[in-house]
Amino acid sequence: MTILLDIRDPAWMREADLRDFLAPLLPGVPIYCETAGVNAASVTLLATTMLRPGVVASLPALKLVQKLGAGVEGIVGDPALPDHVRVTRLKSHGPAQEIAEYCVAYVLSEQHHIPYHRQSQSHCLWKPIAPKQTSLTTVGVLGLGHIGSTTAQAFVRLGFRVIGWSRTEKSLPGVECCHGNDQLPMLLEQCDYVASILPSTDRTRNLFDLKRFQCMKNEAVLINAGRGDLIIEEDLLIALDTGMLKAAILDVFRQEPLPATHPFWNHPQITVTPHVSGWHLDDGLRDIAENYRRMVSHQPLLHEVDRIAGY
Ligand code: NDP
Repeated sequence: MTILLDIRDPAWMREADLRDFLAPLLPGVPIYCETAGVNAASVTLLATTMLRPGVVASLPALKLVQKLGAGVEGIVGDPALPDHVRVTRLKSHGPAQEIAEYCVAYVLSEQHHIPYHRQSQSHCLWKPIAPKQTSLTTVGVLGLGHIGSTTAQAFVRLGFRVIGWSRTEKSLPGVECCHGNDQLPMLLEQCDYVASILPSTDRTRNLFDLKRFQCMKNEAVLINAGRGDLIIEEDLLIALDTGMLKAAILDVFRQEPLPATHPFWNHPQITVTPHVSGWHLDDGLRDIAENYRRMVSHQPLLHEVDRIAGY
């Protein structure tokens, strides 16, 4: 029984560093880095960011794919993954806190007209403009899971009116909770900011189309820190260019890295960040070792993904 690590993003996390972190937590368990060569027939747990083509077929004893992060669409959607292989994800405090901060940062920047003041300064212009009042501002948070609930609570603490949206019914202190597709238009038409922190599933892909943008306030700002394929990009451009929507802050895209020729880069109403809103897995990485122990002793796994629901 061995663990295989396959990260492929050394700027974010090095496989050798993760191996050195896990080794003292799992004495005697062989942990291999993808690049270091491995007895493929002995691998039962694959910890990865994404399934490399052909990797599942090369690991005949595989029992568990542990996603290094939260979004599992690339794993549960892989037809090569046999039904008996279970999938777990991480629920680190770090990315939830960071994504909440990311959303708050861009909302407060807009509330206080920070880009406007910066631009006025560059022209030596003294042009006061009233900040927008928190108590008169409504933030919609789509997705009330591990990250969305943290984000919604952060806005509540600042005094915003917060409406949250999930698939199933939820209750969160200070948040007006709604759920299901029927209740989404009611949320969209009331919100000054809409922060999307949804997973990519069969039911959320292409959620933001022209019909949904038409429901939103013309002055609304959309923030997407969930997944790029929640948005139909052509429809977002039409919505911005025709005044259906004021601006979009985008951290995730259908194609990453965003191609240099993509119209989002130079659009005056779009802010692009390179998938950085949730970064540090820190505390959550211990759960990889815990899930290995649980898998071996046939105990319930931490943060197991519902492969049918897709998250
Ligand atoms: P969770 O699984 O904890 O929460 C997902 C939430 O989305 C739940 O509240 C769920 O509803 C809701 N949801 C799912 N499907 C629907 C639907 N059809 N309609 C309405 N609501 C729905 O995930 P996390 O909060 O941990 O992460 C969310 C996503 O954020 C990840 O899947 C990933 O794609 C993205 N992410 C982005 C990062 C970045 O750096 N930009 C970093 C980390 C994650 P319910 O509660 O009813 O199940």
